[in-house]
Amino acid sequence: MSGWFRTRELEPGVFVTLEPAVASMFQAAMVTVLGRDRDLQFDFGCGVQPLRPALPLSSRPVIAVASHAHVDHIGGFHEFADRLGHALEAAGFAGLPGVETFAAEFRGWPDVVSPLPPGWAIADWHLRPAPLTAMLKEGDRIDLGNRSFTVLHLPGHSPGGIGLLDEVDGLFLSGDAIYDDDILDDLPGASVPDYIATMERLRHLDCRLVIGGHGPEMTRARMVAVAEAYLTRQP
Ligand SMILES: [Zn+2]
Ligand SMILES: [Zn+2]
Repeated sequence: MSGWFRTRELEPGVFVTLEPAVASMFQAAMVTVLGRDRDLQFDFGCGVQPLRPALPLSSRPVIAVASHAHVDHIGGFHEFADRLGHALEAAGFAGLPGVETFAAEFRGWPDVVSPLPPGWAIADWHLRPAPLTAMLKEGDRIDLGNRSFTVLHLPGHSPGGIGLLDEVDGLFLSGDAIYDDDILDDLPGASVPDYIATMERLRHLDCRLVIGGHGPEMTRARMVAVAEAYLTRQP
């Protein structure tokens, strides 16, 4: 369905793609970063419509990295050959029990997709398994040739949540570790103690522009404010 996705170029070679017809709870940012030798695709939407042909990728090889294994981030992950994510959520990516993907919640959510694409019904929708082809851990590097990202393991929202930081340029892709909206720390698989440690880390993180898994982009000052508001709320 043409027009299903909406893509914006945030800065040269950095794009954010959304699915405007998906309920806001499940509408997650998919980030494309074009590199000299390789492109990066970070997160993959809900799998309602084919994703890859709609993305602003070049003809270079693509490194596909998932921030975590929740349904709104991995729907189109299976469309990529090289799939990277954190080992702690390997079962979720593979569609195995043990890591909550919230696919059942997506299916049961009132008007989760509106308007419906022609001929599409939620009853026919499945979260396609997308087993990892390589595991990422804290400190790993994603090299695009002219720029690179460092993997930050940021548990709390989910056990294997990761963010990607370009330390030279200051671009930080945070996934659902932090975003400018209600912070969810009471989901199955979430951990408040882990989240506190992650927010402590993020409030000291040196960066310039933060693209979260949901909500608007953040300056570093805004990200620090969100982290500190979370920490202040803790008993
Ligand atoms: Zn999300
Ligand atoms: Zn999530």
